[in-house]
Amino acid sequence: MKVKKQLFWFTTLIIFLGLVSLFAVSVYFNHANNHSIARNNVIETTRIVANLYNEDSDIDLLALSANSTRITIIAADGRVLAETSQLDYGTGANHLTRPEIMTAAAGVSEVHLRFSDSLRTNFIYYALRVDTSDGYIFVRTAIPVANVNAYLMQSLPLFLGIILVVALLCFVVNRTLINRITCPFDSIINENRINAKRREEFFANASHELKTPLTAIKGFTELTAINNKDENIRKYINSITRETERMMSLIGDMLALSELESTPKINPAKISLAAVVGEVRDTVSTGISEKNIAFSTTGDGVIMAEQGHIYELVKNLIENAVRYNVDGGKILVSIKSERKFIHLSVADTGIGIPAEEQERIFERFYRVEKSRSQQSGGTGLGLAIVKHICALYGWKLRVESKVGDGTEVTVEMGL
Ligand code: ADP
Repeated sequence: MKVKKQLFWFTTLIIFLGLVSLFAVSVYFNHANNHSIARNNVIETTRIVANLYNEDSDIDLLALSANSTRITIIAADGRVLAETSQLDYGTGANHLTRPEIMTAAAGVSEVHLRFSDSLRTNFIYYALRVDTSDGYIFVRTAIPVANVNAYLMQSLPLFLGIILVVALLCFVVNRTLINRITCPFDSIINENRINAKRREEFFANASHELKTPLTAIKGFTELTAINNKDENIRKYINSITRETERMMSLIGDMLALSELESTPKINPAKISLAAVVGEVRDTVSTGISEKNIAFSTTGDGVIMAEQGHIYELVKNLIENAVRYNVDGGKILVSIKSERKFIHLSVADTGIGIPAEEQERIFERFYRVEKSRSQQSGGTGLGLAIVKHICALYGWKLRVESKVGDGTEVTVEMGL
């Protein structure tokens, strides 16, 4: 819906801008073209009048031969001898200082554009020096030319009319076209939405169907182990229990990943990171005491996020810090709250990750040491889940590790 609106306004804006530019360009070229025609006309007319002129010429007859163009005959001393429009004649002003007369006097006649105060319009002037029996005179002609503003004002009503018609057409055609173009996408989006529902339902059902028999197997094997004194059989049963647990975590991780990849639900709530760390610490307490690990937490920060996502993220990082730690090792979880970010880092003093493997550990099922990871209950999906959660919230993920020294994974959470 939002995309449709954007598309509608975008195309309408483009059409509007196109029309305005077309209008501006056409006004400019029309104006430039008319000026060029006027320049040629004024030169041509002045030449004809200059050729026809002699001392006995009737100025009105000359004007007729020059298509009623404004003609002025100026004496060598600058006096106006005759003038068709009576404008300059009436003023009695000396014309020797007029640019077109100055250039004509110098023998290099040029076209000049000037605004006429009396006629309130621009005129193009051109003058030629004509030799007579007792000296010389100047023949000057002038043609009125409209300025750009006049062109603009002339064409504006027509332009506004066109804009109105185009706007109406845009509204009707654009809407119909956009609806037609986006129709297939709408059905794809709807289909995807329905599929994502169905998908969630399938995974919820599959999770239930798979977990129920596995829970039963686990329960029965534990019961058999308790009631069986045979050491060998107890060993086999323990292996079955371990593998069943592994299978259950694998199903859990696969479901978590699949949910993150489809349309994860986010119901943001205020979450204290230190509280989540404490919760996770309790669930991994067996591993911590088995390896004699010193576990500590510093700082706290409150983040708005989906509770389940934060729990999954912290759980996977702390589980790894325990799983790949050494006996008597340390784990430090630090939470630093800044103005715009919260830095959550989980540091261990475990086996570390070789530099060349550090890029790949976020891939699904990628393990540095497959057998070690499997033995300690790893599914190979933990960090892939962490990466997906970070991507979902736009958080940055960083790993620093040195083989034999330990690993520190940091998540930069934007607030
Ligand atoms: P797994 O379930 O196998 O631990 P993960 O996706 O969580 O899978 O991690 C991928 C691999 O990255 C692990 O198999 C392990 O080799 C390596 N790894 C992850 N965290 C650590 C860590 N803290 N110390 C050393 N190696 C680690």
